[in-house]
Amino acid sequence: MSDAEPVVAFWQRLGLPGLYDVHVHFLPPRLEAKVWEQFDVAGPKIGREWPIRYRGTAEERLTQLRSFGVRAFPTLPYAHRPGVAPWLNAWSREFAEAVPEALWSATFYPEPEAAAYVGELVVEGVRLFKVHTQVGEFHLDDPLLRDVWGLLEDSGTPALVHAGSGPVGNDFTGPASMARLLAEHPRLRIVVAHLGAPETDGFARLAASYDHVHLDTSMAVSRFFAGDGADARELAPLLRDLAPRVLFGSDFPTLPFAYGEQLDALAELGLGNDWLRDVCWHNAVRLLGEPAVV
Ligand SMILES: [Zn+2]
Repeated sequence: MSDAEPVVAFWQRLGLPGLYDVHVHFLPPRLEAKVWEQFDVAGPKIGREWPIRYRGTAEERLTQLRSFGVRAFPTLPYAHRPGVAPWLNAWSREFAEAVPEALWSATFYPEPEAAAYVGELVVEGVRLFKVHTQVGEFHLDDPLLRDVWGLLEDSGTPALVHAGSGPVGNDFTGPASMARLLAEHPRLRIVVAHLGAPETDGFARLAASYDHVHLDTSMAVSRFFAGDGADARELAPLLRDLAPRVLFGSDFPTLPFAYGEQLDALAELGLGNDWLRDVCWHNAVRLLGEPAVV
């Protein structure tokens, strides 16, 4: 059986036009190769065996996503040091112009130029930003980002933020800096990547307090981390209570298992078909807009 068959059967059974996957990465090939190398050697930022299942060319991976019926996805670039965000953003923009399913994504880094390039992107219509505090080693409330967050709060442009300490934490991960950020900018549309795992409770408290905080399910609702004592079913009450702001994400292509497994895990939460339809489609449409292709 191909990886696509169970995925297509899943959304067809729900009567959806496909899937809206809010957590997908496409990076410039040179950088992507470096990221994958980290996974391959189970480097210090990965911390475990992690055989990447979908490691074809960008063209092959695009074909795979289409075979799954993924109708919209971001590219989620993230910067690991100053000076690279504009280069990543230019590449990501070109990709989105060429691929109708791709949501135009960008990133920023705490650096003096950030407010200027973020401001331009917002005016030009970028759909969402991504930042990664573990890889970038910065706090979300870094003073160099104050104007950036103000801009995003006013424009309503969402930012998908990896700030949880999974798979490996450091001084910059955990909910504390997001709590400080939201106290300053309560209207920010944040998507907490991976449900904020393993600090799911702390990030869920922020989502409960701030109406524009969303959670993406990527990797957090799967059997892969079961060895860490994480049981996705324990998350069910929380995912039910925050239902309108829970978004399906996969983390394709760096998956150590078949794409459909996380969909099965979502179904196994037992929250019902309406919940699945909201999480795999409607909630993302509301936050990020209708897909260009259905
Ligand atoms: Zn990711």
